[in-house]
Amino acid sequence: MKLLFKGFKIFDGEDFISADSVLAEEGKIVKTGSGLDESGAEVIEGNGRLLTPGFVDLHAHFRDPGGEWNEDLQSGALAGAAGGFTTLVAMPNTKPAISEPALIEYVISHGAAAHASRILPAGCVSKGRAGKEICEMEKMTEAGAVFFTDDGAPIATSHLMRLALLYTGKKLPRVMEHPEEISLFQGGQVHEGRVSAMSGLKGIPGASEEIDVARGIALVRDTGGRIHFTHLSSAGAVELIRNAKRAGLDVTCDTTFHHLTLNENAVIASGYNSRFKVNPPLRSVNDQKALWEGLIDGTIDAIVTDHAPWHLDEKDEPFQEAPFGIASLECAAAVLLDYRARSYPEVPLQLIFKKMTSGPAALLPEKWQHLGRIKEGSPADLTVIDEARTKIVDCKTWKSKARCCPWEGTALTGWPVMTFVGGKKIWQDEEEI
Ligand SMILES: [Zn+2]
Repeated sequence: MKLLFKGFKIFDGEDFISADSVLAEEGKIVKTGSGLDESGAEVIEGNGRLLTPGFVDLHAHFRDPGGEWNEDLQSGALAGAAGGFTTLVAMPNTKPAISEPALIEYVISHGAAAHASRILPAGCVSKGRAGKEICEMEKMTEAGAVFFTDDGAPIATSHLMRLALLYTGKKLPRVMEHPEEISLFQGGQVHEGRVSAMSGLKGIPGASEEIDVARGIALVRDTGGRIHFTHLSSAGAVELIRNAKRAGLDVTCDTTFHHLTLNENAVIASGYNSRFKVNPPLRSVNDQKALWEGLIDGTIDAIVTDHAPWHLDEKDEPFQEAPFGIASLECAAAVLLDYRARSYPEVPLQLIFKKMTSGPAALLPEKWQHLGRIKEGSPADLTVIDEARTKIVDCKTWKSKARCCPWEGTALTGWPVMTFVGGKKIWQDEEEI
């Protein structure tokens, strides 16, 4: 089947290009250009809208197996599609945790059954995520694991992290670390700073993140391995990673859509609504600014959702009792596009899109590094974006089973409107039909 995207402003994963059309055949991109031959092709008219590679999210939680009432792999894959994401990395902190090859296969096959976004599994570093024995990483890689992480918690001991870095080296998928020093986190509810002082809730200091990042960097230096720090939230951690990169270490990192667009003041303004309770917590204005600086100077490689879905019954609790985590797949892109237009108009749109496409794809195993780009031979994973569309976030309409997000009821401008995976349309905004 032939598909011609015609009359678009095209971002190819690196930059906007002069061509205005993309031809896809048999699920792959065949050609970019202007005035391409339409014969035999289904034509998608751009009318000046944006066409980007499908977004790649390196960090999403789907609660499957073991918590499917909150989200399952199918609803997660559909939610991703409805947010413009074509590839989603599923975190392994499920019940049971994804720490053996058969469970890696389970995530791949159940994700694929949705015929929506492609779900790639991350495997645990430790068996059962218990922090004791290391998993069979080679066999899990063969089964399809694309990262190794005990996310939800940091790798339990420095010894285990050192082993994981030695085993993975430069050949196996990267180790992804949830940076947190447990004894500083325990009992914490919010960022330690203005919000903890005003509320009396126990604070989680930025140092909790920095200590763990420093540990990881020291062990990368020691082993020659490589590490990816996920959901960075603090200025100190950005600075540590900036210096590690300058020193030539193979250290990469991401931050989230919500840490870029919200800070502790949102928690206060909400009257301590649990919809704003995340781990790591929303931090200070200065931390938020440091994340943007890290994005701009290349310290931060990717932007992730950390989509953490909870059924309303579980999340809609007083702040202190509610679990950490917010659902965001279906509005993340709009949240960031809207925020950037209002607060950082000087930051080029290319930079933002790069961190959602080729930036994250480059951190996946080689097999997947062709994702996140519009070029000949790469899969026709594409997202159409209407920069002018304004829509109110309404969780009730979501494909995700989660019904709790900080932007509920907010009008945002700049939305994905169509998503394609391997040349197949997997989602379209209702207003487009
Ligand atoms: Zn985490």
